[in-house]
Amino acid sequence: MTEYLPQDANEKSLWGDSAIANPLSEHLQEKLKTDVLVVGGGYTGLSCALHLVQKGVSVVLLEACSIGFGGSGRNAGLVNAGVWQNPNHVVKVLGEAAGERFNLALRDSPGVVFELIKHFDMPCQPDRRGTVNMAHNADAMTLLEDRCRQMQNLGASVELIDGDRAGAISASPVYRYGGILDPDAGTIHPLNYARSLAKAALDLGVRMFEKSPILSLQRDDDCWLATTEQGKVSADQVVVATNAYADSNGQGVRESLLPLSIFHCATEPLPEDIAASIIPQRHGIWDTSLLLTSSRIDSGGRLVMSSPGSLMRFQRGIRESWMTRTRNRLYPQTKGLPWEYRWSGQVGVTSSKILRVQLLAPGVFAPAGYNGRGIGPGTVIGKHLADTLVSGNREEFPFPIEALYREKWSSLRSGYYSYGTLALQFVDRRR
Ligand SMILES: Cc1cc2nc3c(=O)[nH]c(=O)nc-3n(C[C@H](O)[C@H](O)[C@H](O)COP(=O)(O)OP(=O)(O)OC[C@H]3O[C@@H](n4cnc5c(N)ncnc54)[C@H](O)[C@@H]3O)c2cc1C
Repeated sequence: MTEYLPQDANEKSLWGDSAIANPLSEHLQEKLKTDVLVVGGGYTGLSCALHLVQKGVSVVLLEACSIGFGGSGRNAGLVNAGVWQNPNHVVKVLGEAAGERFNLALRDSPGVVFELIKHFDMPCQPDRRGTVNMAHNADAMTLLEDRCRQMQNLGASVELIDGDRAGAISASPVYRYGGILDPDAGTIHPLNYARSLAKAALDLGVRMFEKSPILSLQRDDDCWLATTEQGKVSADQVVVATNAYADSNGQGVRESLLPLSIFHCATEPLPEDIAASIIPQRHGIWDTSLLLTSSRIDSGGRLVMSSPGSLMRFQRGIRESWMTRTRNRLYPQTKGLPWEYRWSGQVGVTSSKILRVQLLAPGVFAPAGYNGRGIGPGTVIGKHLADTLVSGNREEFPFPIEALYREKWSSLRSGYYSYGTLALQFVDRRR
């Protein structure tokens, strides 16, 4: 059978090319009965399955393509705390008590990820030397000062750094204003983390199948019955962890999100002297510019950068050329070096910019809408959901459980955003 790598046609993913072996290749060809069915083999589904099986619950996990095919195998690998929005925004949207619980549950999410990696000795290149949100100009620093204060009030171990320190961490002539350093955060090989989670769950007894998209989910007596092309699974409870990769059989999850693309470019392994001169302490970096850009060096000494946009058809040339110019400004020592890899992926955005855990029907949960920050949240939510499915006590779950939501005009708004970033990148070409 074809190996589905986390990339689209005409793209080549660094993570796909440098990944550990895929721990499974079977597809579902039988009828199974289980306590919990998990749909989707990304961080959310895998973390939930792993934590459930650790509690002695029987779990079947069905993945439409391959483990990590969605955002979990395509992302930048920056393991950050919290969500994109400031803690005060979360409180404003969810209310004081619910917002506080939500913020606290995600405050230490890098710790949860790195502990899990350590516990199962996962070969996913964990590097916990911290990440930095860099100000791209002086005004942005005012916003970061406020964000840092809010995070510190929550008890997070973040610190504000000045322009000199930002310059030393990035070794970039652009990042000279300062930023927020999170020393507990870090980087991973994202696809290896997904495959390692899958391996740990398989070893403990989760029955897991790839190339097995669920085609329908229906009530059958007192169970849920999921049907795939060649098999069926009946389960007491279901976790639909399809997030931004939900298909048209996705029980409404797709309609609850605005799908937006992010693309990556990665160089060949950098010459040693250049590699040593960029982000020398190997932090993960992302900035405050409108066309947000992230940078990191992977374990092979490649510079990996990302920004909003897809690489479809004519967009690829414009976006890649913009990324080259941006790279030349941020790290002038890389001028003239070619990109070896380019790939993209979709993130699920919500109007509130806050993730949602939706109850699609009694016993059917769907966490989604991580707005581009899902390594920590996916792992943490999967863990908490496992606790709640076992205890049945929703009061303990630190995220609000909401009814199915439908985003309005999602295609139109996604298109507007996508072509908006393309226009900005096109105009910016002339710099
Ligand atoms: C390019 C990019 C860069 C990012 N960078 C970062 C970053 O640096 N840091 C960070 O924290 N987050 C980042 N994110 C976000 C993060 O990757 C995601 O939020 C996270 O991976 C979501 O995990 P998930 O398990 O919820 O969903 P996914 O990983 O998307 O998994 C969903 C899975 O469901 C499967 N599926 C869909 N339909 C069906 C069906 N009918 N039956 C069975 N299976 C189905 C899909 O094939 C897919 O594998 C980035 C995302 C992208 C795309």
